[in-house]
Amino acid sequence: MQVITENPIGPGFALTENQKMITDMVRNFGAKEIRPKMMEWDESQEFPVDVFKKMGSLGLMGVLVPEIYGGAGLGYHEYITAIIEVSKICGSIGLSLAAHNSLCTNHILTFGNEDQKQKYLPKLATAEWIGAWGLTEPNTGSDAGNMRTVAVKDGDHYVINGAKNFITHGKSGNVAVVIVRTGEIGDSHGMSAFIIERGTAGFTSGKKENKLGMRASETAELVFNDCRIHKSQMLGNEGDGFIQSMKILDGGRISIAALSVGIAEGAYESALKYSQERHQFNQPIVKFQGISFKLADMATKIEAAKLLTYRAGDLKNRKLEVTKESAMAKLFASEVAVEAANECVQIFGGYGYTKDFPAEKYYRDAKLCTIGEGTSEIQKLVISRLLLR
Ligand SMILES: Cc1cc2nc3c(=O)[nH]c(=O)nc-3n(C[C@H](O)[C@H](O)[C@H](O)COP(=O)(O)OP(=O)(O)OC[C@H]3O[C@@H](n4cnc5c(N)ncnc54)[C@H](O)[C@@H]3O)c2cc1C
Repeated sequence: MQVITENPIGPGFALTENQKMITDMVRNFGAKEIRPKMMEWDESQEFPVDVFKKMGSLGLMGVLVPEIYGGAGLGYHEYITAIIEVSKICGSIGLSLAAHNSLCTNHILTFGNEDQKQKYLPKLATAEWIGAWGLTEPNTGSDAGNMRTVAVKDGDHYVINGAKNFITHGKSGNVAVVIVRTGEIGDSHGMSAFIIERGTAGFTSGKKENKLGMRASETAELVFNDCRIHKSQMLGNEGDGFIQSMKILDGGRISIAALSVGIAEGAYESALKYSQERHQFNQPIVKFQGISFKLADMATKIEAAKLLTYRAGDLKNRKLEVTKESAMAKLFASEVAVEAANECVQIFGGYGYTKDFPAEKYYRDAKLCTIGEGTSEIQKLVISRLLLR
């Protein structure tokens, strides 16, 4: 695939040819492979691994990975478009797609050495393997730097003990990038990142979460019990892990912003259609200003969220500083997703409260966007710190 670097929100705001191709491809794929089954997966909390394998063959599981490592070799604009289109259909599939691409795979792509990239990226980019990324612990979420899972050096190995929770693909992931303590508590250089393969002695999965939304995206605990990892599995140098994670989250937050935009657009489009079909007082409900103004607000905010998201992607493509802009995109887009999904349920009325229509699923799925990869409060902390620097 050819990389097109022109800005999709430049003159005319036109999508590039690659973005148009991705949009068509995902819409066709979603109609056949996601939409018919998504409520079943949602009800049973099934993580549909086969769907991700199929998305791997379409290049969607390694969007940012260069072609020499088996990826699609595309940039952030194409990546954002892919996540928006998938998430318009199903937030769970969008979340897992984002976590696989942005967190595990991108950590190895950005900080791995050549051996690590050659070993893991082709498997991840094609979805032969599913990736997980573990930063959060039961007692340290927002305050991740205070983590307690520890790796103690023993010759050429490190021995890891502790647990990570709320990890996307915590059970089905074939490989995980895990950030653990190798130095003092309170030292931002006291943490290191390791690549740990499923099947390594002392590495198991714990509790799978039963969630409000995003139910087809698996969330589970990673448990380490005297897990011996060779030093060659470390990403970068000892002490780099936390700083690396913050950089990975800069990109990850763009993907959660895209996930939010997708959910918001899905909710908006369903509400628009329903409001034209549903009649009350002998007219379509969209003729009531109370309803059409809701749609106007939704459409305007979604457009603004999309601009912030593509702007952050543009900075990332140009390898510029993006911490503030990705936090702004994530903060704004996730709050818009919650608001749009809420209004969608309202426009559907009683039917919006049932599982016969998509409104309630958008409503449940959207809430995760204000929590995962840093809550809205933490985004404000990041933004305000940078404003006051
Ligand atoms: C579905 C799902 C998937 C996830 N996937 C992953 C994953 O793949 N990998 C991973 O590592 N983690 C993952 N997470 C974890 C996620 O990143 C954390 O849940 C999130 O960072 C919040 O941490 P916490 O849940 O511990 O909340 P807490 O940090 O305990 O926060 C509780 C409340 O306190 C507020 N708060 C905390 N500190 C401050 C402050 N300084 N100022 C103001 N308010 C504050 C928060 O905003 C929040 O409202 C996932 C979570 C979910 C639900």
